[in-house]
Amino acid sequence: MVASYSWHPGAGPVEPVWPLSKPLLADELLTSWIARVALAHGCCPTALIASAWRGFRGRTGDLDRGVSASRLAVLSKQSGVPYASLQSATLAHVMPSIMRLPDRLPRGNWPWITVLGCRGNHHSGGLQCCPDCIAQYNSRYLIQWRLAWHTCCPVHGVLLVEQCGRCLAPLQPELLKVGASFNDCHRCGAPLSDNTRSAFVEAALAFQRFVDEGIGRHPMYGTLPLDFRDWLTVARTMVSFAQAALRHHSVAAVRFFESLGIALETLHPVSLGLPLEYLAPAERAVLLSIVWVIMSAGPDRFIEVARRESLPASTLHIPLNGAPPVLLELAAALQAPRHHLAGGVGCGHPSSPARTLRMWLRLKRKVRRRGIR
Ligand SMILES: [Zn+2]
Ligand SMILES: [Zn+2]
Repeated sequence: MVASYSWHPGAGPVEPVWPLSKPLLADELLTSWIARVALAHGCCPTALIASAWRGFRGRTGDLDRGVSASRLAVLSKQSGVPYASLQSATLAHVMPSIMRLPDRLPRGNWPWITVLGCRGNHHSGGLQCCPDCIAQYNSRYLIQWRLAWHTCCPVHGVLLVEQCGRCLAPLQPELLKVGASFNDCHRCGAPLSDNTRSAFVEAALAFQRFVDEGIGRHPMYGTLPLDFRDWLTVARTMVSFAQAALRHHSVAAVRFFESLGIALETLHPVSLGLPLEYLAPAERAVLLSIVWVIMSAGPDRFIEVARRESLPASTLHIPLNGAPPVLLELAAALQAPRHHLAGGVGCGHPSSPARTLRMWLRLKRKVRRRGIR
């Protein structure tokens, strides 16, 4: 077990139709279990899916996000593993613990869930795993490894991997061939345990542990206990904030991070523009280590330093729906009226053309100075 929170205990088969059915292991992902069952029967996972789900065209997509009730019922009947247990192995089951859902799950990408980038049966992003855990007896792909705050294995002290070290194929256990194991690359067959190990990032592991321990509870943000989902929303907003700072290196942002003890210059650049959920474990570890420092500092310190360094309100992207009050307070603090606007706003008289032009030029100089493009 690599996390301090368990999503499901697993379940054994009862009166299975499939002769070599396998139990669902604790915290195992649905596709990991499907792959193990298929390989136990001497067939590849895509063939097992195609035979179980008549009319299924073989484009598996991201099955871990959830499959229809009728298809899950077929898997349950054939395998003997209870329906509810298989359902608990999907990310749809996990999402209500991660974000406040309106009525249904979002259609696009889900916050904090790693993106596989599915095109037919091939993915541009792989499943994450620990190269040491996956080589052990009875290994499985864990739900935790689809959660973007997981970047390292605390047991083995290494960064997670998402691709083969030899051919760089994204890890897709559902494409494994008959006779292969989870430790094999589906494309070139190289053992994943041969991957070069990268040391974990200490602050990223601290973030990972804190989040795992906070699931379903009220973790602290400064002196404020927050609903776990609200805490994650604040942290996700800070991820975007840190990404923008790493991209632009504006003077105000550099000073802001220096005040919190983070030297932006020493950090490796993160892939431009890609959201956290698309990034490789190493890049996420960099971002989350920054966010860990910001979250540990608390809201009062954030406001104090942001005001002192005149961080523009535009640096904090507040989600349109479901922003917790503390996040709105942070944004409001950044939007505090500036002295040069006094008299220019709400005076009740239209400005002269010359005065408007002066204000416009001053605004342009200010924007350039702060590195906003
Ligand atoms: Zn491990
Ligand atoms: Zn390979």
